[in-house]
Amino acid sequence: MAENKYERKARRKQTKAKHILFQDTGISCSDEPTKYVMVANAGLVTGLQQEQLLELCLPYGGVDGIVMLPGKSYCFIIFKDILYASKAYAAIHGKIKLTPNDSGPLYLAYAEKVPELSHSWNYDQKPPGLILLEEFVTEDEEKSLLNCIDWKTSASHLGQTLKHRRVKHYGYEFQYDTNNVDKECPLSENIPSECNFLWDRLKDKNISVLSSFPTQLTVNHYQPGQGIPSHVDTHSAFKDPILSLSLGSSIVMEFRHQDGRVSPVILPQRSLLIMSEEARYAWSHGITPRKMDVIPTKNGDLTVQQRGDRTSFTFRFIRKGECNCVYHDLCDSYKKKYKKSEADTNCDAVAAKLESLHVHEVYEEIASHFSETRHKPWPNVLSFVQSLPFGSVLVDVGCGNCKYFGNKMGHFEIGCDHSVSLAKVCHDRGFEVFNCNCLSLPLKSGIADGCLSIAVIHHLATKERRLQAVEEMVRILQPGGKALIYVWAKDQQRHNTQSSYLKQDRKNRKKDCDGELKCVPQHADGSKSRNTILNKVSSQFPSLPVHTNRTQFQHQDLLVPWKRKPGQKIELDNKTEGALCLENSSQELPTFYRYYHVFEEGELELLCSCVKDSKVVQSYYDQGNWCIVLERV
Ligand SMILES: [Zn+2]
Repeated sequence: MAENKYERKARRKQTKAKHILFQDTGISCSDEPTKYVMVANAGLVTGLQQEQLLELCLPYGGVDGIVMLPGKSYCFIIFKDILYASKAYAAIHGKIKLTPNDSGPLYLAYAEKVPELSHSWNYDQKPPGLILLEEFVTEDEEKSLLNCIDWKTSASHLGQTLKHRRVKHYGYEFQYDTNNVDKECPLSENIPSECNFLWDRLKDKNISVLSSFPTQLTVNHYQPGQGIPSHVDTHSAFKDPILSLSLGSSIVMEFRHQDGRVSPVILPQRSLLIMSEEARYAWSHGITPRKMDVIPTKNGDLTVQQRGDRTSFTFRFIRKGECNCVYHDLCDSYKKKYKKSEADTNCDAVAAKLESLHVHEVYEEIASHFSETRHKPWPNVLSFVQSLPFGSVLVDVGCGNCKYFGNKMGHFEIGCDHSVSLAKVCHDRGFEVFNCNCLSLPLKSGIADGCLSIAVIHHLATKERRLQAVEEMVRILQPGGKALIYVWAKDQQRHNTQSSYLKQDRKNRKKDCDGELKCVPQHADGSKSRNTILNKVSSQFPSLPVHTNRTQFQHQDLLVPWKRKPGQKIELDNKTEGALCLENSSQELPTFYRYYHVFEEGELELLCSCVKDSKVVQSYYDQGNWCIVLERV
């Protein structure tokens, strides 16, 4: 039987889709039926909702899962049985449109397997601290609670119709612009007395999460298709726990942890959800706006459940004072405290001046040595660079002499540094570099796959500025991209082992010069500008202690001198020895002072935990440095 026009088109579309799938994932398709059916023109990119697809497939048999890949225009259905898959294939392929308005029908193909299942339907693992009490109120009580809400008084700003739902507050108004309440300004309407029986019932059920009565209530009314963005209830505004009573239709609420875990929780009609501890503080929660939810049935199948009108009563306890929880990632109190201690010590203008004088000017002066001395890359930094895939965009922020470039790894390497002289050195070596301050990178967001910050942010004089530098790096990374950050550690001795900085004695100076800039000796001659730097030290920043080289650090913020004693013979390359070791006993040699903020243990992690859209994936100590790999999420 000859193919008709439509069958021919369907076959052409299918062949093209198989090819794309193989290119994307390495997964082949099969001419024989399998349980795994690829849907070629319906995916996250086309705005497909999994519940739509599930509804379409269920008439042909049980479905174990749907796999949607980010950024793809196709997806997969996993049927319970090959027979179901072939029934669905016969009925849908090239014939059925997902919605009447879609331009073309769905094209299907059998795949040999599916990419790793997304965890979006993992109903088994609930966040710790989450308690769900089903059938907490009776149907009569449900009616009485719904009737006690007077939406008419919500004509004022107190009962706003938000873009996605209707909402009303009691006790205190929740302000959506600040995600907080005005604790000084309670509302005239208290929590309706109709709610009081709930607290006795909790006591009857031996749930002892309450030490007092809730002081704030938010009532949300959701129609099918409405939701609420993922959020954590502001720590400083509300205590632990938060209670949510679901009336009307059941719904699926999604809990998300910063580490990427997602936990959908079905909130049945008339159930009470108690969010306490980790579930309250360390997980955000939200409701995806849609008209159906995908839920498991009793025998483990997946099914869709239509949403109806739902009203939630969220009871909270207003907090007096700040939050002291241990879940710092999402704690506004903790972050405020961290930033405030910063403001007390140093103002931004002084910091900028300090960096200009004791970082930028110094590096400008000593830059020429970078073209004369050799610099061995640090092995762990090199490993990070080498771990980036072929074709990655690598940005080295504070690239110095670009010692991590030119590894022939097929990376697109971009360097930047504040020092004009260092950039010249890099240009001469054939690298792409430009000048900028690491506090404000002139690069588009999301362009980099990898980012280096080696011995850079310890030259920034306030926490705020160090934070800003890390935020800038995260900004230019694309999701999944990683930044490696190295800073000097205050503790130069770990597990009874001295860092190479402490171990280096004067006989060992050659190795010194292969290492970091801090070890490079200065020129023997003294120009006017160098003497200027020298003279400014005591007058401008008299309170900054001066460090004694090759000793443990006594302070966190300090000036590290860099000088060459007269008559000292420094061994370098034969080529450079003559130039560097010129003896000039008649002239007093100037000393450069470089500003450093050396990091305490855990300080770099703390700093990085304040950076949005990122997570720390690795943290270690390496030869007197604290090191972190930060991933853009
Ligand atoms: Zn907190």
